[in-house]
Amino acid sequence: MLTYQTWESHELPSFPHDNETKGALDVLAWAYSEYKDDIVYACSFGVEGIVLIDLISKVKQDAEIVFLDTCLHFRETYETIEKVKEKYPFLRIVMKKPSLSLEEQAQQFGDELWKHNPNKCCELRKVIPLREALTGVTAWISGLRREQSPTRKHVEYINKDDKFQSIKVCPLIHWTWKDVWNYVYKHQLPYNVLHDRGYPSIGCEPCTSPALDPNDLRSGRWAGRGKTECGLHIS
Ligand code: SF4
Repeated sequence: MLTYQTWESHELPSFPHDNETKGALDVLAWAYSEYKDDIVYACSFGVEGIVLIDLISKVKQDAEIVFLDTCLHFRETYETIEKVKEKYPFLRIVMKKPSLSLEEQAQQFGDELWKHNPNKCCELRKVIPLREALTGVTAWISGLRREQSPTRKHVEYINKDDKFQSIKVCPLIHWTWKDVWNYVYKHQLPYNVLHDRGYPSIGCEPCTSPALDPNDLRSGRWAGRGKTECGLHIS
């Protein structure tokens, strides 16, 4: 089995991407065959997440989906999760919370940590919870697309993830924003209504605004704070 430890000695599989799902379904079929229950999908329930959930449900109906529930998400995001639960009743959706409540975090690090130290806040409420969720798991799935940002341009289908000492599987690397929406409309999938209100990328409420630049889908994330990533995808 391909693991973080066997990465150097293991031949990586290759996948065609000139098909309807641009390789995504083949990658998922390989991943669930390789890892069985030893893989989780860390889903933010943005529109790429909805596409991936639909594709995953075709390969493994009872897949484990982890949502990093920072307790700071939009009401619309929690409503989206409920719609997904209704549509895919066999998926195992885990709401993974940080060990510190918002009150405990404020006592230890000050009120509204996201305003004065967003990196620390993301570490406490996203990075550490994901590390906990991946404990004992060999691989995880992420909805990264190469088109999203310069830092994601070189992501492969199968990646060695030094940050979490894991294998990171990214089935959607070749999908464009248009591909994502075409798939959602074609299959009539539920999605977060904030996407229709100018939010292409949706994270925690205090750190997400409508996109400032229509050509930069992530320009509404931590706008004006010199931060572009929560830290899950940075070594
Ligand atoms: Fe905190 Fe903002 Fe990061 Fe959410 S996105 S964990 S509120 S800094």
